[in-house]
Amino acid sequence: MAKINMTVPLVEMDGDEMTRVLWRWIKEILIEPFVQLKTEYYDLGLGNRDATDDEVTVAAAEATKKYGVAVKCATITPNAQRVEEYGLKKMWKSPNGTIRRILDGTVFRSPIIVRGVTPYVPGWVKPVAIARHAYGDIYNAVEERVGRGESAYLVIRDKNGTEIKSSLIHDFSSGGGVVQGVHNVDKSIAAFARSCFNYALSGNLPVWFGAKDTISKVYDRRFRDIFEEIYVSEYKETFEERGLYYLYTLIDDAVARVMRSEGGMLWVCKNYDGDVMSDMVATAYGSLGMMSSVLVSPDNKFEFEAAHGTVTRHYYRYLDGEKTSTNSVATIWAWTGALKKRGELDGNSELRAFAERLERAVLKTVEQGYMTGDLLPVFNMEGIHPKKLDSKEFLKAIADRI
Ligand code: NAP
Ligand code: MG
Repeated sequence: MAKINMTVPLVEMDGDEMTRVLWRWIKEILIEPFVQLKTEYYDLGLGNRDATDDEVTVAAAEATKKYGVAVKCATITPNAQRVEEYGLKKMWKSPNGTIRRILDGTVFRSPIIVRGVTPYVPGWVKPVAIARHAYGDIYNAVEERVGRGESAYLVIRDKNGTEIKSSLIHDFSSGGGVVQGVHNVDKSIAAFARSCFNYALSGNLPVWFGAKDTISKVYDRRFRDIFEEIYVSEYKETFEERGLYYLYTLIDDAVARVMRSEGGMLWVCKNYDGDVMSDMVATAYGSLGMMSSVLVSPDNKFEFEAAHGTVTRHYYRYLDGEKTSTNSVATIWAWTGALKKRGELDGNSELRAFAERLERAVLKTVEQGYMTGDLLPVFNMEGIHPKKLDSKEFLKAIADRI
């Protein structure tokens, strides 16, 4: 069989630990036999990030801007223990954070639904997709402890440094405490809104956005207003033509509605809400290994990744020569997402069709009862006794079904 050709390279970002091992096997077993793979390779493994003073991460993000589509393996975000373990020059920042800063994007996560894996919320028969704003709020906050008798103010100065507003946050005369300053910027909120409406149109999903503007009458209200303005002036017509809609509601009402729903919407979350809710949603669908994730920039550059980490515990077992049963589905989905997008942009229908065929082969493998250990306790289908495969056997079982 002739291999499928590619015209424009994918930006390939290799990573760490068990996912780096899976990365190589996925390419060898599932992709390279069928596709004349063309990638521009960046090694984001921790050793190479250290050797290049993390310039490789910046170069990979810049290449994503140039070519438009990247696929990324999970990477270690170093902490003090990792600095020692790898003998690092310094505690390098999170590569995901660096890439997000450069691409200025929104992270979209969506569960990969397989027959037989019943979500812990049985009503969710369609995916609950989550959009998480990846800028500002408490993630770029300034915080201080405040002593008894001190007081804290919110002060705004004009561009010359002259104070124009000052409001008392709290007078701590009866005892010390804490204070926090957070911000966001209109430009980022607007880019977030457009990314969400575009993503929803590409997946034919209605958009639900929840915030707390009854309490946060200026801050959250700004999010609500910007979304409303952009929806009405740029998207409403197309949404209505397609039978889709945009719903704004309070975050607590959004949570209640999502729980009662059958899924099938894009749930737009502010940064913190998205951080918390995406883990809840991923777990509810059975496993961290069954969640796809893509970073979309306002100018439509795409970085596909798995939502989980480098699965360290499995890696140490692998290093000891043991077989692991690590779920590669989310990492395969990163590859198929990137190949499909490349196919779409380049008018390469064969490449697109291959990626879709690979996804169907993965689903079929699990639905026929062949899976990794994490799925066993959540799999239930009449007449099928699920069989646990090791990491490589699982990939071979998929290859047999392509
Ligand atoms: P993790 O790698 O996601 O693993 C946490 C646990 O979840 C694993 O020990 C495993 O449970 C289970 N798990 C996750 N993915 C799985 C899969 N594909 N198949 C089977 N089980 C899976 O999170 P972590 O241990 O907190 O972090 C490890 C490293 O990953 C850290 O250095 C962190 O910086 C990095 N990280 C990277 C990213 C990213 O690049 N996107 C995201 C998060 C974390 P059992 O051990 O019980 O089987
Ligand atoms: Mg989180």
